[in-house]
Amino acid sequence: MPSFIIEHQCPQCGAPAELEETDRLVRCGFCRVGSYLHVPEVFRYVLPSRAPEGTDLIYVPYWRFKGMFFSCYPGGMDQRFTDISQQAIATHHFPVNVGFRSQTQKLQFAVARPGGTYLKPQLTQAELMTGLNQRFRANLPKPILHQAHIGETLSLLYAPYYLKGRLMDAILNEAVPSGSAEGIAPLLEDHEPPAWPINFIPTLCPQCGWDLEGISDALALACPNCQTVWWARNGKLEQLRTAYVAGSEEQMVYMPFWRIQADITGMTLENYADLIRVANLPKVVQPGMDEQRFYFWAPAFKVRPHRFLSFGAHVTASQPVERHVAGYPEAAAAVHGVNLPIQEAVESLKLILTVFVRPRKRLEDLLRTMQITARRYRLVYLPFHEGPHELIHRGMNLAISKNLLANARQM
Ligand SMILES: [Zn+2]
Ligand SMILES: [Zn+2]
Repeated sequence: MPSFIIEHQCPQCGAPAELEETDRLVRCGFCRVGSYLHVPEVFRYVLPSRAPEGTDLIYVPYWRFKGMFFSCYPGGMDQRFTDISQQAIATHHFPVNVGFRSQTQKLQFAVARPGGTYLKPQLTQAELMTGLNQRFRANLPKPILHQAHIGETLSLLYAPYYLKGRLMDAILNEAVPSGSAEGIAPLLEDHEPPAWPINFIPTLCPQCGWDLEGISDALALACPNCQTVWWARNGKLEQLRTAYVAGSEEQMVYMPFWRIQADITGMTLENYADLIRVANLPKVVQPGMDEQRFYFWAPAFKVRPHRFLSFGAHVTASQPVERHVAGYPEAAAAVHGVNLPIQEAVESLKLILTVFVRPRKRLEDLLRTMQITARRYRLVYLPFHEGPHELIHRGMNLAISKNLLANARQM
């Protein structure tokens, strides 16, 4: 499934507008007012119906998951990017997934519509993930030591059906072969009103009133005037604690990383000296290294699964210690957008460790028993030099392909 298009109306002037599934920052083509989209839980969309006017529609929920899946087994790790839909109500009366139908359709936000019954999802988000984990482990060597999913888009799609003697698919206007009117009768009792508000938060800096900036799928918006960064929390913008390492090169791009302090069980990894031992780095422990606190570093931007982990592991093994300047890089600098949430970065920490723990034999035990609990985090922008094809951090000897970043916009 490619990402789909959602039709909506500008909350300011009512003009019709379209946005992509991952868009959060939208600017109206008519009134030019910018809004940031935020929902308390997950975004819910309806597939458009082609049923005759005035038909009473039954909206059936499907989970839609798009993201990276990792499964660790002895001696290896399976990584995949996955994009699936699955019934949120287990029944053979409706198709098991929305299939190709969502590709060709423009969706709308799920809101109250006359003559619409929204069935209540029965499969929880946690159950969906457990099911997917089981599916992906099926063909892998056992035992499975650890599984994680990162960078996901999770939403609910409501597909329309109706009854006309028999169960009809309102997208195709055809009978559903597996469904029967009597069979679905008990399912129809469990429905809920579509009371799922979407917040359109005006993108004005809460501190100085300036227009905030960000990429279309931004999770953090920057104020170029007072150099602050904001994200949506509980329906409003709150300031996000950020810092940057000032770069001195020309042609610079600042890349965002989550720097995370965590409690780890099963191994001692509290400072740089510990890291040298854990990762068996070709370095001699020097005095003072045991006072340099250890931090995890994970990209705050989306990239393909294996690169995501290798970038995180690379920066974590490097433990950048340059002085942090609080706030957002100076106005003239190019800054890469943030589109990977902190929760997802935290979810990746164990996987990042697997990249550099030595000896490899230790891994099996660790993966099974280790607990990592994030304590504190900060968004830190690191300066990279922009070459023709790559962004390069010379100090860490790290190169990020520009092509890779461009392709990640589709994820
Ligand atoms: Zn407008
Ligand atoms: Zn401001």
